[in-house]
Amino acid sequence: MNNAGRGKKAAGSGEVVAAMRREQQARQAGYREQAIKLFPPVCGRCTREFEGRKLRELTVHHIDHNHDNNPADGSNWELLCLYCHDHEHSRGVQQDRDKESPSTAAGRPSLRHSPFAALAELTGDSN
Ligand SMILES: [Zn+2]
Ligand SMILES: [Zn+2]
Repeated sequence: MNNAGRGKKAAGSGEVVAAMRREQQARQAGYREQAIKLFPPVCGRCTREFEGRKLRELTVHHIDHNHDNNPADGSNWELLCLYCHDHEHSRGVQQDRDKESPSTAAGRPSLRHSPFAALAELTGDSN
């Protein structure tokens, strides 16, 4: 008897989470579909064209980074391929860091701290 009660409770909370996930996925699928209908299937950065199965690589970027801001006219959406989308977000992080410490932010990476030098050190160590 007690087992039945416990089982019911666990299933209930799991269902809520599943429903929330489904709703989120449906919402994302919804604005993606709308954006793809509104805009030509072209990446806004590298201008590559996507069609057929490749269309999956085209994602919807939110210009103000607010995923809940989905105006029907598409004014907050930009179609970006997976690579450019990734780049767009890492660029935003970089800008935020620069804002925090403008005096220490270097315009270009230092040659002395090259990632390749570190890599060479690492591989030399393991051998
Ligand atoms: Zn692109
Ligand atoms: Zn984005």
